[in-house]
Amino acid sequence: MKVTFLGTGTSQGIPIIGSKHPVCLSNNPKDRRLRVSVLVEWDAYTYVVDCGPDFRYQMLRAGVEKINGILFTHEHADHVLGLDDIRPFYFRQGDIPVYGHKRVLNSLKKRFDYVFKTKNKYAGAPSVILNRIKNEPFEISGLKVIPVNGKHDRLQVFGFKFNDFAYLTDMKTVKDKEVEKIKNVKVLVVNALRIDPHRSHFNLEEALEFIKKVNPEKAYLTHISHLLGFHDEVEKTLPENVFLAYDELQITI
Ligand SMILES: [Zn+2]
Ligand SMILES: [Zn+2]
Repeated sequence: MKVTFLGTGTSQGIPIIGSKHPVCLSNNPKDRRLRVSVLVEWDAYTYVVDCGPDFRYQMLRAGVEKINGILFTHEHADHVLGLDDIRPFYFRQGDIPVYGHKRVLNSLKKRFDYVFKTKNKYAGAPSVILNRIKNEPFEISGLKVIPVNGKHDRLQVFGFKFNDFAYLTDMKTVKDKEVEKIKNVKVLVVNALRIDPHRSHFNLEEALEFIKKVNPEKAYLTHISHLLGFHDEVEKTLPENVFLAYDELQITI
C-alpha cells in the first residue's frame, strides 16, 4: 500500500493569507502545507481521504488520473469543499463513490445541492454514489476498512484503518475501545495542531500521548498549524519513531 500526503495543514493552510508569522514566511517547502488529505493506493486502486479546497491542485500535483472513491472523516469545510473538482474524474469514469457518516452525507447534500438534483440537473455537475458508513468495518475494492470513532470537540469524526495503516485527523478524544482497534498498527497518522492546547484538536503533547497508547512502529503528525513551529525544528524534538508529515511525502506500508 502506498500513501501520499496530499496536504498536511490545518484549515487555513500554511502560509495563511496575509500572515507575517515566520513559519508562514519560511522558504522551506516542508513548511508549506495544503489542507489535509491523503491518497491511499494499492493494486490498481486509488482512494482519497477527504476532499478539501485544495483538491484540484493536489490531484494535479500528485498526477492522479483516476480515483475509485473518497472517504470523508467529517464535514468541515477544509475536508469537503473540493467536491466540485471531482468533475474530471466523473466525466471520465462516471459517478464517483463517496463514503461518510450519515450526517456527513446529509451535509454534502446541502452544500452541493446541485450535485444531488434529480430534475433539470445541470449537465456539467458531477454525480456521486453515497455510501453511508457506521462504526463498523466496510469494504472498498475488496479491502476491509475499519472506522475509528472519535470526537472533535463535540463533533463525531471517523478515522480509518486500512490493513496496517491508520489515518486519524481532527481528533480531540478517542475512547479506549476505539484505540484498541489500531493498537500496534505499523503506521499511524494523527493530527497535532500546535503547541498550546485547543478545544477540538490534539496539541503536540496530546498527540504524543495518543501515539504512546497506540504503540505503532512509526507515527506521522498532520493537520499542522503555523503555531506548531518550523518543520525542521519541531521534528528534532520528537521521539525516534515519530515524524512530522509534509506535503508530497510518500510512504509504503
Ligand atoms: Zn480539519
Ligand atoms: Zn474539522
